Amino acid sequence: IIFIKTLPKAELHAHLNGSIPISVLQELAREYVASAPLSSKSVSNDAIRAVIDDLLNGVTLDEISDFFGLFPAIYALTSTPSALARATRAVLSLFLDGEYPQCTYLELRTTPRETPEMTREQYLRVVLGELRHYGVQRAALIVSLDRRMGNEVLRECLDVAKKLKADGEPVVGVDLCGDPMAGDVELFREYFDEARDAGLGVTLHIAETKQNPTRETLQLLSFSPDRLGHATFLDEEAQKIVAERNTCIEICLSSNILCRTVSAIGCHHIRHHLKQGHPIAICTDDVLPFRTSLVGEYALLMAPKPLGLGLSEAEVKAVAEMSMQSRFVSMAGVKS
Ligand code: 5GP
Repeated sequence: IIFIKTLPKAELHAHLNGSIPISVLQELAREYVASAPLSSKSVSNDAIRAVIDDLLNGVTLDEISDFFGLFPAIYALTSTPSALARATRAVLSLFLDGEYPQCTYLELRTTPRETPEMTREQYLRVVLGELRHYGVQRAALIVSLDRRMGNEVLRECLDVAKKLKADGEPVVGVDLCGDPMAGDVELFREYFDEARDAGLGVTLHIAETKQNPTRETLQLLSFSPDRLGHATFLDEEAQKIVAERNTCIEICLSSNILCRTVSAIGCHHIRHHLKQGHPIAICTDDVLPFRTSLVGEYALLMAPKPLGLGLSEAEVKAVAEMSMQSRFVSMAGVKS
């Protein structure tokens, strides 16, 4: 374990609102329940309590769509600047503080959210205000675009991301995330083109479920992403493109298994990439519902089969190095 803990490694796929330590979420929930009369709340006290109980007991997901049902309650708890700042501080500390930090470098991602108390720009400034304490060599921000967003919101998100980057804030990339069955990805093309022109890295959740059509996967690959999230169900044609381009794949083992998009670690697509020496980055996705950590995900690489993948220390070190090489701050063409 000391070997894993001291290994230089980058966490490149962690969603802010899915990574809040449960103790902090419980504190925020207690304050929420005790505050304001019920009528002014977007989510009822009972619904908040139910989600906290689920998270404490361990969520059981029958399919990936169940997972997205957790977020309205979490969002209700992080909708003020002070609550969002506390949540962000706790997430950054979880990954970056302590004698043996989970990672050497973190690219934290979050979806700019408008609430009664914050504009999208204010939301991002609150997150950046916390992130700044660590310096760009340790922590940077990826702005997530949700598949449910329309043109007006996408324009606002892109303008804000570019403005913050131009102001010298550590905004290093944009992401496509959210319910994998929602929206039409073609709408996003011009925004990802524009992001790339502004020197931002592009990462896309892609082929996350069996239901994502091949046509959509090829459309997303035509955006020329720098990295891919999950990429679980790439067909032969898509695999060929990804292999030719050597595009780094962000691998989230526990997330895939708990969301039931992969049935067991022994048949995870990571095996194919390891065999091919294809660049991957081991990541956590959402440590809150998946009750994991980056060290835990690396431990799965080393654990003997069938529990883990039985990799040697040298193999795990090589995997960790790939994550460091795939940081947006160190990629050619992507400026920090
Ligand atoms: P946030 O962006 O609000 O900080 O983090 C939570 C959001 O990230 C969720 O609402 C969802 O849109 C996105 N997200 C978190 N985990 C996943 C995942 O595994 N797949 C996809 N497609 N989106 C995710």
